[in-house]
Amino acid sequence: MSVPVLDLQAIRKVYQTGDVVFEALRGVDLKVYSGEMVALMGPSGSGKTTLMQIIGLLDRPSAGRYLLGGRDVTTLDENERAEARNQEIGFVFQAFHLLPRLNLLENVEVPLTYAGYSASERRERALEMLRRVGLESKARNLPTQISGGQKQRVAVARALAQSPRLLLADEPTGNLDSRTSEEVMALFGELHAEGTTVVIVTHEPDIAGYTERVVRVRDGLIERDERQTPLRGSQKQGHPAQAATP
Ligand code: ADP
Ligand code: MG
Repeated sequence: MSVPVLDLQAIRKVYQTGDVVFEALRGVDLKVYSGEMVALMGPSGSGKTTLMQIIGLLDRPSAGRYLLGGRDVTTLDENERAEARNQEIGFVFQAFHLLPRLNLLENVEVPLTYAGYSASERRERALEMLRRVGLESKARNLPTQISGGQKQRVAVARALAQSPRLLLADEPTGNLDSRTSEEVMALFGELHAEGTTVVIVTHEPDIAGYTERVVRVRDGLIERDERQTPLRGSQKQGHPAQAATP
């Protein structure tokens, strides 16, 4: 079998607050292969965000090994980690994290600023990403002038700007109503169908229903890992379940 995009081996994470030590991850093993779309589910406080931050190279595990595309990233220094993060990982957060004074185009350009593109290449690429999420016509609008669902689509465009091999989303629909959530999930489904590897944290079964694999986390451990036929939205071309799509 091919090398997994991400390979977590016995990952542990200990938080220390004063004298209190808390083990948020207690030995997580998880492999995700290229082109998979995975939902991470579990009760509040089970360790989902901690796990995503480790996967996204935003935090380091206390113990264990993490291979990203076959490369051990647990031994990298901060600069190397930042570089790997910028090149390989796109992150979408529940709270969008758009910069309020920048227009949508400029927001999508932000991650390209440090990547050695010229100004015109940045602009062109950012416009292409906004077109990708259906918001090209709003390129000059400010984040305050668009809806929540549109903000999340801009955040997805920004995450895609550097063509990451891995797209991570931590409760991306947590601030959206159900119709808008469907719109955002349909977009993730399209990206998945095009071959992007997607990991989404959600506690909503409806959202997990878009994915082909559900990993359940409980008390810092993986409790279950099951494959399923996506209910809607994320079927690949020619998938037998496609006929059932409304
Ligand atoms: P989830 O995303 O599943 O709700 P988290 O990963 O955010 O869970 O948190 C898992 C556990 O770790 C919780 O008990 C939380 O209180 C604790 N925790 C998370 N971040 C910190 C931190 N920075 N310091 C101390 N404890 C933390
Ligand atoms: Mg969380």
